[in-house]
Amino acid sequence: MRPGIELDGKRVLVVGLARTGVATARFCAARGARVTATDDRPAEQLADAVQQLRKIGCTLAFGRDVITNFAAQDLIVPSPGVPSNHPGLAAARQAGVPVWSEIELAWRFLRGRLIGVTGSNGKTTTTSLIGHILAGSGKQVMVAGNIGTPLIAYADQSDDKTMTVAEVSSFQLELIDSFRPDISVLLNLTPDHLDRHASFEDYAGAKARIFENQTERDAAIINADDPAATELAPSRPQIFWFSRTKRVASGAYLRGTQIIFRRDGENTVLLDRADIGLRGEHNLENVLASASAAFLAGVASAEIAAGVRSFPGVEHRLEFVTKISGVNFFNDSKATNVDATVKALESFSGGLLVILGGKDKGSDYGPLVPLLRERAKVVLLIGAAAEKIAAQLGGAIPLERAETLQRAVALAYEHAREGDTVLLAPACASFDQFEDYEHRGRTFKQLVRALAEEPRPLHARGREV
Ligand code: ADP
Repeated sequence: MRPGIELDGKRVLVVGLARTGVATARFCAARGARVTATDDRPAEQLADAVQQLRKIGCTLAFGRDVITNFAAQDLIVPSPGVPSNHPGLAAARQAGVPVWSEIELAWRFLRGRLIGVTGSNGKTTTTSLIGHILAGSGKQVMVAGNIGTPLIAYADQSDDKTMTVAEVSSFQLELIDSFRPDISVLLNLTPDHLDRHASFEDYAGAKARIFENQTERDAAIINADDPAATELAPSRPQIFWFSRTKRVASGAYLRGTQIIFRRDGENTVLLDRADIGLRGEHNLENVLASASAAFLAGVASAEIAAGVRSFPGVEHRLEFVTKISGVNFFNDSKATNVDATVKALESFSGGLLVILGGKDKGSDYGPLVPLLRERAKVVLLIGAAAEKIAAQLGGAIPLERAETLQRAVALAYEHAREGDTVLLAPACASFDQFEDYEHRGRTFKQLVRALAEEPRPLHARGREV
């Protein structure tokens, strides 16, 4: 039984009014809560949210209208973007006020089964792929998370037959209480968001909370090739491993080109590697995890293979944009950390012109050096992190300080020869020059498409570098 919560007449404070905050405020107000909604940004920047929330009677406070009475609330729901050391939250906790993420609240109202996906990279791809396979097999499925709809917005629509697949971040997991997925997936664990978590251990601890309330009846799917992830393996739920490199006693692995799922000593062939259209070994991991989750959710192997075959990938994740005069352009704007960029570089054998930079998240760019040296011809640097990256790459590879994405695309095209690949995989956040990674990715694609319309033919160039 889920613990539930009565919201009628309760004072609920929603902190942060992006998509999740607005959905949370609406959900609580619809259940009779007295909702106050607040954001550090001024009301002018939040016109849409203001309009929606005024209409349903929420009290609003913006910018400098500081809310001092955090401790006088019955429940506080901060958005994922709000730092957990926010002074108001500390005061509330001290006063015994529950501080929950939206997924905790949503889970209490959600019906049916829940698959929760977490990890440093690959959450959206895996969540979407699981949703795609389940939907293709005829299940009633809802896909929640960063790219689309917050979990809370689905809580009312679910029934006992619903399978919900939700991408859950460390920030959301940090503020759960009884949240319990029937099937949890931990993809990998690499340093990310170290500007927001006190340490790697702190970040890993938040991710591990996905298992915290799972019981013996639940399942956990964990990457056996990732030592940091395996270290977090819990004791209660049944564990199913997935591995690209070795056979596992229970879970998914490769036998030749076949992907096998082993359970209770019995092997089932789920699909073949040839069914996978996505580029890169990291996507093989996402497929292993997704196929395992779908199998455990009761999907037959033929339907799993069909789902993987027809999955188009997700925008801004190693997305092929176009080919212009023999030069390929890939948009991996979602590579906002070093590990994602490493994976992007590993997905190509060479001839790369790589656009790096943006807002630094306290990262160490050193791990990029060997791959860049081996596979890239030049790095085009953009944004605020350019000098830090230049210093850490330390002359390993030719660099150009392009400053803007526009110049970087132009320079990359200028340097590129037939057969080369221009790759946007910035290893940084986007907020110094863009609204978000999606804005950055869309801008990249527009710039690339504009190149295609330029009269200057590339065939006039030589092939040599
Ligand atoms: P998330 O939702 O965790 O940010 P995405 O699916 O949006 O994950 O992918 C984020 C970035 O990480 C993209 O650049 C993508 O190409 C890369 N990526 C995807 N899957 C993996 C993985 N399993 N390991 C490492 N990098 C990955």
